[in-house]
Amino acid sequence: MAEARAPGGGEAAIVLRGVRKAFGSLVAVRGIDLVVPRGATYGLLGPNGAGKTTTLRMLLGILEPDAGTVELLGSPRTAASLDRVGYLPEERGMYRRMTVRRALSFFAELKGVSPRVSASRISKWLERFGLGDRGESRVQELSKGNQQKVQLIGTLLHEPEIVVLDEPFSGLDPLNQQVFKDVIAELRAAGKTILFSTHIIEQAERACDHVCIIAAGDKVLDGRVADVKREHGSENLAIDLEEPTPAAVAIVRASSEVREVREDGAVLEAVLNPGADAQPVLAALVGAGIRLRRFERVEPSLEQIFVELVRDTTPRTAEKEVAHV
Ligand code: ATP
Repeated sequence: MAEARAPGGGEAAIVLRGVRKAFGSLVAVRGIDLVVPRGATYGLLGPNGAGKTTTLRMLLGILEPDAGTVELLGSPRTAASLDRVGYLPEERGMYRRMTVRRALSFFAELKGVSPRVSASRISKWLERFGLGDRGESRVQELSKGNQQKVQLIGTLLHEPEIVVLDEPFSGLDPLNQQVFKDVIAELRAAGKTILFSTHIIEQAERACDHVCIIAAGDKVLDGRVADVKREHGSENLAIDLEEPTPAAVAIVRASSEVREVREDGAVLEAVLNPGADAQPVLAALVGAGIRLRRFERVEPSLEQIFVELVRDTTPRTAEKEVAHV
């Protein structure tokens, strides 16, 4: 079978075509297409309840789609291709009474890795996560964040080509979030394909090269982060005043180049109209004797694009609990 092509011509690691899933009258995912290129770090973004976990579960065969198809590594998903995937589920769960080493060795065996091979990998990863001395602790004795690290190790022990992480950063303190980000960056450098879900857009902006935004079960947009920003975002002006000055805000607001102004004391953020020229804004401020610390064109954040696009998405009327009769 011919390998599915990702946008830009590369091979696709994951292809979902028209996948749909309903729970009773609630349509959680409404026929989504998703192409994750090999080697991409791909963020699946969306507000709570958007359908991210349901999409990932269909991809992994935990849920069967009502419609649509799933391909992994160039072929329809099989048990063998799933063995080349590592999955960190959203609801963390491990055998709490087992020792960390035993639990990890068990994970590895489920994926066909012999205890002899897994033992050295487990040591390497425990060291990497600063848990080198916790191998003989019971899982339940570890803090939640450390349990999450152990579970991530379990996801990686069979050295999967595709790593799927559902909300990997949730529940972690900033230091541990950084550890997870570093590991994702290492996996990316090693050529792995990484797909992770998050509702914290800022995390995806830093970590991902591709994103897909879904809302209320529908795809809102997808593509390379740089392309998404170019196509969907309005450029901004970052203006820092020497001191809060109402006249400056009025000048920026009055400019025909500017669509919207956000103001926080002496810091202004102006959203430019498409194709706008920032120079007249600068000239007007300087001409009025306003003293500036900073005047800079900046690209839009993914968060801004996300908020603008998702704000208009009407919630499903069937968002209520499904009634079973
Ligand atoms: P979050 O960020 O909150 O985890 P999500 O984007 O992962 O959200 P899903 O967990 O996929 O969203 O849920 C999508 C919708 O489907 C939600 O309205 C949820 O209540 C519903 N849903 C998910 N699983 C089930 C289920 N097993 N039975 C009934 N409804 C479900």
